[in-house]
Amino acid sequence: MEKTNLCVKCINWDHRPEGNPGELMGYCIARKKNVGPHYQCDLFQLKTPEITALMNRRIYGAYNEENGEDFDF
Ligand code: SF4
Repeated sequence: MEKTNLCVKCINWDHRPEGNPGELMGYCIARKKNVGPHYQCDLFQLKTPEITALMNRRIYGAYNEENGEDFDF
């Protein structure tokens, strides 16, 4: 059975391509350090559109996309 890199599917993955980390390296928000690919991880949480939106709201506050002006910090 082929191993799957969980990090690229995880809400905790922050690839930060501007740092030129390479295809498989990135920053793990949960572990607070750069990590290589994990094929098993107790902290894995599947990145879904709903969880991504929730994370963005926590980080950036509410944003009304209809008029692009209403921030709620
Ligand atoms: S929590 Fe685990 S699977 Fe998710 S990015 Fe960090 S190391 Fe990878």
